[in-house]
Amino acid sequence: MARLGALVCCLLAAWHCRPGLGLPLAPAGAGPAVGQFWHVTDFHLDPTYHITGDHTKVCASSKGAKASDPGPFGDVMCDSPYRLIFSALDFIKNSGQKVSFMIWTGDSPPHVPVLELSTDKVINVIANLTTTIQHLFPNLQVFPALGNHDYWPQDQLPVVTSKVYNAVANLWKPWLTEEAITTLRKGGFYTQKVSNNPKLRIISLNTNLYYGPNSMTLNQTDPANQFEWLENTLNLSQQNKEKVYIIAHVPVGYLPFAKGIPAMRKCHNEKLIDIFRKYSDIIAGQFYGHTHRDSIMVLSDKKGKPVNSLFVAPAVTPVRSVLERLTNNPGVRLFQYDPRDYKLLDMLQYYLNLTDANIKGESNWKLEYNLTQAYDIEDLQPKSLYKLAKQFAIQESKQFIKYYKYFFEREESLGKEQKLPAFSGELLNALHCNTTTTNNKNVIDVL
Ligand SMILES: [Zn+2]
Ligand SMILES: [Zn+2]
Repeated sequence: MARLGALVCCLLAAWHCRPGLGLPLAPAGAGPAVGQFWHVTDFHLDPTYHITGDHTKVCASSKGAKASDPGPFGDVMCDSPYRLIFSALDFIKNSGQKVSFMIWTGDSPPHVPVLELSTDKVINVIANLTTTIQHLFPNLQVFPALGNHDYWPQDQLPVVTSKVYNAVANLWKPWLTEEAITTLRKGGFYTQKVSNNPKLRIISLNTNLYYGPNSMTLNQTDPANQFEWLENTLNLSQQNKEKVYIIAHVPVGYLPFAKGIPAMRKCHNEKLIDIFRKYSDIIAGQFYGHTHRDSIMVLSDKKGKPVNSLFVAPAVTPVRSVLERLTNNPGVRLFQYDPRDYKLLDMLQYYLNLTDANIKGESNWKLEYNLTQAYDIEDLQPKSLYKLAKQFAIQESKQFIKYYKYFFEREESLGKEQKLPAFSGELLNALHCNTTTTNNKNVIDVL
């Protein structure tokens, strides 16, 4: 399920030259000054969510635990009610932002015991959300990636075709080419160029094949031959002078809350890192979900030079386990890139204050921060993010305190009692440690 990660905030006050929140992108006829796309992830729809006096029965995803303060937009002990997901998509639709496409990095079903779901139930949830997106955005190209929950039993995504791969291939047909549909059916991954950006390629990986709990791929060096396919795809892309955005659910690199533990199996993580390093000159960005927390990573080459920027987006679901003290507010994000070379320029993080939405009975999605302004950095290039990471390592770093706050999509400062929760000292250490030890085996900094 989910864990940690975080980023930054700010508003458009001193935003020179760069378009944003409803501002025109460029003077008429001049072509767009920036390209934009949305990133949504980890909806985790819980169809059982309903308000009732017995708080142990509000949602199946609380697994018998008491809901905390359930309202129309959800509860921190529960996965998303449909109304919360709809409010996120409706906000995007009405934001006034002009975008070229959207990426959607998986995990649609709820966190419930395995016997409460089935292959058909999982497919129904994915179908429900796919249809919602297609109705709301009939003209938008959407690039999905499968999550570890987008299968039954969860995590067990296979290396050959399956009912789920076939179902999503059919559901996602309106967005994808024949070639993409073919590989999606076979192994749950695909590649495709962005329609209105001829030199930009999306590679949607099925990194669930490398996820530790997936027993279908144990002891396999190249499950579903995805590594081979990825190398071939990147090679061809390089020859064609394209740029690539990598999208996937389970991220590479270390988990932000656990010192030195990668999110996927170590051997697969290292193989993927090797490939990403080899083609880092054409990979213009990497986008993940799964941890449910807003985080940044920087991939370095073997000499420690930062070569790639990686972003883990916060979830729409606010769910936490009974063991966690804090969770994220629901979030969605907007990336901005240079349409000439697809370099990432900025990221705008939006969130919903769940408590507030439940009290008022209406959702008021707001800008939480703008990455470059919040940290006073030039752009989202690996060099800029690496410089920022180094600032996080300073004792009592103000930048890191900000990062920690945005990690959970929180507007309020962490209160006295929450300032240093039991695990946050460890988290801080882990983060500081990772940001400074760039020469370890994986040579990847998880922030
Ligand atoms: Zn998830
Ligand atoms: Zn996941």
